[in-house]
Amino acid sequence: MELKQLDKQYIANTYARFPVELTHGKGSQVWDEQGKAYIDMGSGIGVTAFGIADDAWQKAVTEQLGKLQHMSNLYYTEPCALLAQQLCERTGMKKVFFCNSGAEANEGMIKTARKYAAEHKGSEYSTIVTLVNSFHGRTITTLAATGQAHYHELFQPLTPGFVHAPANDLETVKKAALDNKAGAVMIECIQGEGGVIPLKKEFVTGLAAFCAEEGLLLLVDEVQTGNGRTGALYAYMNYGVQPDIISTAKGIGGGLPLGAVLFGEKTEFTLGAGDHGSTFGGNPVCCAGALSILNRIDDSLLAEVREKSEMIFRKLQGAPGIEDVAGMGLMIGVKTVKPAADVLKACMEKGVLCLTAKDRVRLLPALNIPMALLEQALDVILEAAKP
Ligand SMILES: *Cc1c(COP(=O)(O)O)cnc(C)c1O
Repeated sequence: MELKQLDKQYIANTYARFPVELTHGKGSQVWDEQGKAYIDMGSGIGVTAFGIADDAWQKAVTEQLGKLQHMSNLYYTEPCALLAQQLCERTGMKKVFFCNSGAEANEGMIKTARKYAAEHKGSEYSTIVTLVNSFHGRTITTLAATGQAHYHELFQPLTPGFVHAPANDLETVKKAALDNKAGAVMIECIQGEGGVIPLKKEFVTGLAAFCAEEGLLLLVDEVQTGNGRTGALYAYMNYGVQPDIISTAKGIGGGLPLGAVLFGEKTEFTLGAGDHGSTFGGNPVCCAGALSILNRIDDSLLAEVREKSEMIFRKLQGAPGIEDVAGMGLMIGVKTVKPAADVLKACMEKGVLCLTAKDRVRLLPALNIPMALLEQALDVILEAAKP
């Protein structure tokens, strides 16, 4: 049977796939089954941080694969401990819990916030305030955290204990937190799935100050914004605040499933033995790959990300058919006059793979995409967006 037919018959209908079968790639280029080449401006939704089949990542992964692919969390293994050390040393956080995805990292963050609030404020402080238009995952609890009603409708009842307040409206968020006896506030510094919308600096710093004063935890979902994506190691660093808990996933594993919850001073001892766990979490192969990724997200790589970002803004802002460019680093949302889906289709025909987020064309290229390839992709996007 032809592959597209086979997929349609046997894969659950949850994905509206593009009519393209990709077979292999290298760096920021990927090929389909007919040998057509594409420039990859989506990196698997910000996952392949250093591109496809990256040499150093592949070496780290295959070396670990030949030594020990899994042993369960009943025993010590080296890659996860080294990765946790590096994550803590570079963020000021104190401890790490490893899991396998963004939603799972957020579940760990939410569980910890609930336990902390019960221990420090009382069990009635279980509510968490999240922002309207946020996205935190697709489990029953992270859907409840997600501030977009259309994700909720078909899956009631969701986990109780979440209230949504408008982003960038500090007074309303404070009121929602106090009125509902919230124990924590959870944000994405840039709403990714929501349309690549960065939060305002005054809002984030004001929120961090409010949380500190009232004894609420500040939870930052860095699943999409983390690991160099925004030109800082984590997006909160662009705002000058220190979260109490951070969740991350997507880019950290370089293409293998890995999520992490980072606990700060207040919460490092909140979870005790038996409170939480994951069979696959901290898998040595995923962590060895992640170490090779994180090791290379250094100051010079981050400066390159910012330089490429400036180039994107320069080239796209004010161009014909382009209404607005928003985002940070290599996490960019482009509002086009034409529907984003039409721009995507035209780009695909011309050999450039982009993403959408709400009504925007979303660009999440590999952090190390060569400048020349990036410029080539932008020329195609500009042409596709022209009215
Ligand atoms: C993608 C994403 C998630 C969910 O991650 P999964 O790995 O798909 O579970 C959660 N939060 C944010 C901000 C995301 O972008």
